Amino acid sequence: MRKLLTLTDVSVRYGFYEALTDISMNVESGELVVLLGANGAGKSTIFRTISGLNKPLKGRIEWQGKSIGGSSASKLVADGIGHCPEGRKLFPNMNVYENLRMGAYAVRRNKKALSETLEQVYTLFPILEEKKGTAAGSLSGGQQQMLAIGRAMMSRPQLLLFDEPSIGLAPLIVEQVFDVIKEINRNGTTVLLAEQNANAALKIADRGYVIEDGKIVVEGEREELFANDEVRKAYIGA
Ligand code: ATP
Repeated sequence: MRKLLTLTDVSVRYGFYEALTDISMNVESGELVVLLGANGAGKSTIFRTISGLNKPLKGRIEWQGKSIGGSSASKLVADGIGHCPEGRKLFPNMNVYENLRMGAYAVRRNKKALSETLEQVYTLFPILEEKKGTAAGSLSGGQQQMLAIGRAMMSRPQLLLFDEPSIGLAPLIVEQVFDVIKEINRNGTTVLLAEQNANAALKIADRGYVIEDGKIVVEGEREELFANDEVRKAYIGA
């Protein structure tokens, strides 16, 4: 497998507060990697740093073998890194179709390629086609999460970052969201998934990292993480 993304000793500060300390991790092409951690551990900060929204204080981030430390967020989207942010961040007054179009904003693509991608999104989420004229703000929580995922797919990313997609959703909908993420991965998109819902996330993952107070404390294959006593106690609850 080919290394797509590599972080080496990445540290990030908000003012004087060090939110990430010497984070080293990698994602290979085709993998589904999970990032587990409690509220405030630093998962969103890792994603925002990979996406170019936070600048690292030190360390190196490589995308397909090239350093991307100083790249803008829109260039990184165009280069193949998609971000489905925590809290969905939809445009509530715009309709479903307009939200999806916004996902393709940073990538130059002809009409045909755009409508092909839109078709793929509608195939995965038929409800979005049914509701294409409906304002995003009036969708149910689960539908809004599907729209956030669909919008992130519109740039045809090679790597898709999912930040806590299960937050605030009913258990049945959570299951659907994880099924969809697994399917997106099976269809060829590499996935990095941040979750507090460790049990459900590990079930679909190949391997993962556990982050506490801005540091990686455990890493391993899915089975190793499931078997790790500390991980079970702190995150799986069994
Ligand atoms: P959550 O699930 O709550 O989003 P997280 O694991 O994603 O948790 P982060 O959002 O990355 O955690 O936050 C890591 C730490 O950095 C937390 O202590 C948080 O309070 C702090 N932090 C995050 N954003 C900022 C900011 N803009 N300014 C100052 N501190 C911040």
